[in-house]
This record gives sequence, structure tokens and C-alpha cells, in this order.
Amino acid sequence: MESQREEVRVLMVAMAMQGHLNPMLRFAKLLVSKGVHVTLATTEVALQSLSVDSRISNTFSIINQDSATPKTPRVHLEFFSDGLDDDFDRKNHIESFLESIQTKGSRNLSNLITNLESENNKFSCIITNPFTPWVVAIALEHDIPCAMLWIQSCTIYSLYYHFFKHPQLFPPLEDPNNTLMLPAMPVLQVKEIPSFILPSKPEIFKKMMADLFQRLDKIKWVLGNSFKELEEDVVASMASLNPIIPVGPLVSPCMLGKKETVAGNVDIWNAEDSCIEWLDKKPFSSVIYISFGSLNVLTQDQMDSVATALKNSNRPFLWVIKPPAVRGSDDKKFCELKSGFLEETKERGLVVKWCSQERVLMHPSVACFMTHCGWNSTLETVVAGVPIIAYPEWTDQPLDAKLLVDVLKIGVKMRINGEDTVLSAEEVERCITEVTEGLKAMEMKRRAVALKEAAKKAVEDGGSIDQNMDRFISELKGICR
Ligand code: UDP
Repeated sequence: MESQREEVRVLMVAMAMQGHLNPMLRFAKLLVSKGVHVTLATTEVALQSLSVDSRISNTFSIINQDSATPKTPRVHLEFFSDGLDDDFDRKNHIESFLESIQTKGSRNLSNLITNLESENNKFSCIITNPFTPWVVAIALEHDIPCAMLWIQSCTIYSLYYHFFKHPQLFPPLEDPNNTLMLPAMPVLQVKEIPSFILPSKPEIFKKMMADLFQRLDKIKWVLGNSFKELEEDVVASMASLNPIIPVGPLVSPCMLGKKETVAGNVDIWNAEDSCIEWLDKKPFSSVIYISFGSLNVLTQDQMDSVATALKNSNRPFLWVIKPPAVRGSDDKKFCELKSGFLEETKERGLVVKWCSQERVLMHPSVACFMTHCGWNSTLETVVAGVPIIAYPEWTDQPLDAKLLVDVLKIGVKMRINGEDTVLSAEEVERCITEVTEGLKAMEMKRRAVALKEAAKKAVEDGGSIDQNMDRFISELKGICR
């Protein structure tokens, strides 16, 4: 088409949270590898904590250095203020934070767009994610088509869709044991659906999702961080409602046996790379890797139970215990290991503040992953073929755990039974044994490896994901402004 401009520019927007930035940046790199220019805008608070490389700040760009010319597509990072002071404790005052980013942050983003665009240099599309629904209004205001990268599972997308469009399908949500049936999903208990819509959680989360689903008709493409073999039925069931197009799994190419052509990460904490050398010295498939993501924090009781179980298990372990997420935060839940634990386990255990999780999961010494089942961690463990011990806490994690344990059957879930009010050390030990020893463990590993192969197949050149990406990009080119 003669009117088509060759250079396609896309703006992506995400809050400065590791679990949001990772899939957005991985998608940005995928677009760049296909010739699209991407600007990724996040909030200035990221500048406080970004790893040193990234702090080269406003000129930061991620690029294929081998063949760089001034016109080479790249990921530019841009920052806008969420309207709060640097030292404001966003994690513990989430309602004020979300209110500010929606009102003041959205204005700042709008001004940034005005500054970045010029007559001959327009964005073809703005890609939001589910947690910045107000971006849809900003896109409309600037007359830019809007896409959404859904950064949780397609199952969660379908569940929210039905909740907001067909609430009559849901039982009363006050009783966590009530059950519900939705298309292409196993029977669910209320306690397994996203906690954002449960009455026990602050209304602000439900409002955020309600805002998003009210604006769904203004979103031209919903892209999913998933692949066919993982959620085929649910993707098919949404096709006639409000389709979601799988473009995942969004993990680093090396996890899928591909070359990384666009290098660079946006890390809020510095990974302790020494843990890879430490893993090198451990026997094949022996290490329990433990991490509960970037936001969840164990209580002292939970931490003590995990520590006791690790001590009793006599196995090597690598445990990520991160510092409070925000500088200056008075995170009251931040707990510590009992004195003596590190000393007693130093021959076989390593505790780090942060690691390169993908590299850890790909390491042959890793036997299993004790995880909170955030969607990125879920995809990363699936792609690495590593069985899991699930310990979900909130939002989408309980349903991700159900997918891994009950549907895909590549792990076990730590439970709180009967009279217990806290996770017991015995339960943690039971799960470690079940996922690492005996026939059942071998079956889980076999299924995990099969899924790993399926993920690789899904992203082969010319495969379904490749085709979905090409279609999306050619549609973008078609509307180049
Ligand atoms: N992660 C990491 N190092 C760690 C722990 C986590 O790089 O020590 C990364 C992990 O690979 C994943 C992200 O942080 O990409 C966490 O995202 P997820 O959706 O699993 O959980 P969230 O942090 O959003 O709860």
C-alpha cells in the first residue's frame, strides 16, 4: 500500500513493578526484533531502584548492538511522574498511589506523548496492560489506536470478562467454598478466583478491573502472554466474545533455545550472579529453588516453617529473600531468618536478595521451584520444564496454582489443613518429598518436560505465535498514521 509508512512506532505503558515490566519489555523486544520502534514509558519511581546500567536513565535504550545504525529499531525508556514524592510508600498506601497515578500520572503521560510525537513521527499504537486502564482514555484523547497486553493468564482474562459482563454466572462471593462453572475452565471455588474481585479485598482493585472491562470496546487488540498448548480451550472460548490473541510465552529467547538479539533488562534489584557459580557445583536436579516474587512477603511463621523444612530436608536450596520493595518503606511484614539457620545450612544452602530467575530455572542443578505462582514465574517454570511447589497468596496466584497443580499436573500445593491457621513445617516437607521423590515426582517431571517442548514448538518460526505477531504488526502498518 503506497500510503503505508515503513517505520512503525509503538508506545507501551507499565507501572514500575517487576512483574509488569518484565512481560512488557519482553514483548517490546519481540516487536523490535520484527522491526518495530518501541518506547516503553514507566513511572519515575523506577529510577530510584533500577540497576546501575539502566540508570543511564532518560537516554536508556535497548538495542541489537551488532547491527546498530541510527535507524535501527530499539526500545527507548521514558519516565513520567505518578504525582507522588519519591519517598512516598506506595506499597503500603496502595489506594493513594492508584488514585494519584490515575489522575496526575495520566496527565503527565499525556504531556509526555505530546512531547514525543511530531507531525511526521506519530505512534501507531499505545499498548497498555490491565493495571493501567486509564491509558485507554489517554490513547483516545490523542487519537491513537489502543492495544492491551494481558500480562496474566488467558483464563484470568476470561474469568474477569464473565464477572463484569455476566455477573449472574457467579455465586455469592462471601463464602470462599462456593463453586462456579465457566466455559473451558475446571470447576472453581470462590477462594480460587482472583482476589481483586472478592469482597474481602479493598474495593479499589475491583474498580480498576471494572474500569478496564468497561473500556474493552475501545481496545482494538487484546494480546495474551500465553501459548496454545497451555490454554487452548479458554482462548477458543473467548474467540466469539472478545478475543485474546496469544503472543507468548514472554520469556527471554534463550529459555526457548533462541538467540537474544535485543539485549538488556529493566531490573529493580541487582541479581546476585554468584548463585549461578554456586549452582554449577551442585549435583544434577538436586536444588530446591525458592522465591515468592517481587511483591509477596512471608510472615514470620511462614518463614520459620519453610526454614525448618529446608533444614530437615537435607537438600541443597537456593532461597531468594528480597529487601523491602521501596526505599524508605516501613514494611511491617518484613521478617528475618532465625539466628543460626544460615550457619547450620551453609554447606548446602544459599540465601540471596535477588537472582536472575530465568537463568536459575534453566540450570540443570535445579530440581523444583517453590513459588507464589505469579504469572511470569509460572510461565518461566513451564518453559524451563521445572516442577513446582505452589504457595499462592492473592490476585491471580491461586488460579495459576490450580492450573499448574490440578490441570497441568506438574506440581503440588502447600495447604493449610483443618485446625491449622498457619503453614506447618511438616506440610512444607511433605510437598518437597512429593515433588522430588518416587513415581509421582517422575511423572510430574515428565509432564513438565513435555510442556517445555510444547512451548518451544509454539514459538518456532512460522508457528502460531509467529503468525499472530506478524498479523498484529501488519495490521499496525496498515494503520500507520
Ligand atoms: N524474578 C527475578 N529474580 C528473583 C525473583 C523474581 O528475576 O529473584 C523475576 C521473575 O523471573 C519474574 C518476576 O521477577 O519475571 C516476578 O513476576 P511474577 O509475575 O512471577 O510475580 P510478581 O513479582 O509480579 O508477584
